[in-house]
Amino acid sequence: MRLQHRFAQLGNEFSAHTHIQPLQEQRLVEINKLHAQHLAIDVTDAQTLSILSGETTLSDSLSMVYAGHQFGGFTPQLGDGRGVLLGEVIAQDGSYHDLHVKGSGQTPFSRQGDGRAVLRSSIREYLACEAMAALGIPTSRALALYDSQQAVYRERPEIGAMLIRTAQTHIRFGHFEYFFAHKKTTELQRLIDFTLENYFPHCLNTEQPIKAMLIEVVERTARMIAKWQAVGFQHGVMNTDNFSILGETIDYGPFGFMEDFNDRWISNHSDHDGRYAFHRQPGIGLWNLNCLMHAFSGHLTRDDLIEVLKHYEPCLQDHYDTLMAQKLGIKVDESLEPLLEKLFALLRREKLDYSFFFRSLSHLTPNNPELLLDEVIDREAMSQWLDYYWSVRNKSQVANAQHMMLCVNPKFVLRNYLAHEVITAAEKGNYLPFRQLLAVLSSPFEEHPESNSLAMRSPEWGKDLEVSCSS
Ligand code: AMP
Ligand code: MG
Repeated sequence: MRLQHRFAQLGNEFSAHTHIQPLQEQRLVEINKLHAQHLAIDVTDAQTLSILSGETTLSDSLSMVYAGHQFGGFTPQLGDGRGVLLGEVIAQDGSYHDLHVKGSGQTPFSRQGDGRAVLRSSIREYLACEAMAALGIPTSRALALYDSQQAVYRERPEIGAMLIRTAQTHIRFGHFEYFFAHKKTTELQRLIDFTLENYFPHCLNTEQPIKAMLIEVVERTARMIAKWQAVGFQHGVMNTDNFSILGETIDYGPFGFMEDFNDRWISNHSDHDGRYAFHRQPGIGLWNLNCLMHAFSGHLTRDDLIEVLKHYEPCLQDHYDTLMAQKLGIKVDESLEPLLEKLFALLRREKLDYSFFFRSLSHLTPNNPELLLDEVIDREAMSQWLDYYWSVRNKSQVANAQHMMLCVNPKFVLRNYLAHEVITAAEKGNYLPFRQLLAVLSSPFEEHPESNSLAMRSPEWGKDLEVSCSS
């Protein structure tokens, strides 16, 4: 495996040399062969495996320094407290991908933390990355998972683990905030130039390259969040240090996929005020972009920055409308908003499972309304909505509407209780349930009739599982 080290060349102000500190009796338990193939990584090569596990140390591996707005307050210095950037690989298509390890031991940025990750959260992140990718949402990817015999202490002793992940970049909003807050003007300029040259080269020959780049950041972020809202994904910790400059979903912690419909739902048990509640995600995305713009206030005028931010709302709304229309099998027109408004009111009242509803709707024909009528208490209200829905859909005349709906409304969703069950088995050394779940989440629109049990809605106990920042 040949690694590139573009970020390391930025120098000491940007990172600290760090390498993986392997766990006791560390064991490779999963490797993403398809993704490895795409990245041209030979996972049968002993030297490659030895780099991934940390047995071979690399002189250029590093931990990044950054800052971030966490739950609204600014922390002037954060950084990879438990992460190491090994370098970059060049995929078959010529694109660059960071190779990053989470849980590899303390770094100069660990603060009071132990630098470790537990098996529970590493499995959750592995599944989330792959589920999101299969849903067509820009995301970091899981490449390999290690477990160990090392105890890592959270609320209870847990199994230490390490996740190797890839992303187009690990440069976050918080990187720019760090250099701006510390008045490191030269370094901020170098980071901006680095980002432009390596990730936004097409902006370089525009009249205002920085402005062009920021407009793209705003639009990528808007589209990412529109996709989250459409599939019912909640990130849980939308701090600016968890926001990629390339609009990929990164740093999965107490995330969740909405089950019983509730747009005020809070997936993160530690988020007492609901700052990152589901319905607030679009607004928080803009708030975070505002923080990012502040770091560019020495580079663009206030008017320019405001103009950049104005791209956010229409871009998010347009993309969301397109996605929701696809989920409903209709075209975007003036009926979409009232149709959704009435639907959400109904789903909320009936506490209907969000993904289950849309998958069922994809199977619906005017002759079998029972498919949905039998799911609700207020059959009359559902029947009225369905009449309205069919009138819009018939008018829309979308070719192959049912096929389109089955390709965007997943049968398989990463439900908390499913994650919980595969984690419980894995903690006892049985990774079979994890692999079965991973397989269906990796192609969630296919029927997989042998795995119907993984498409069921949560049992009541599964709805009360708590996930928090402790990972
Ligand atoms: P997160 O909420 O996971 O995005 O983490 C916020 C910050 O705390 C990041 O800089 C992490 O690298 C760091 N961090 C989280 N958990 C640990 C840990 N167990 N040890 C050291 N640093 C950590
Ligand atoms: Mg983070």
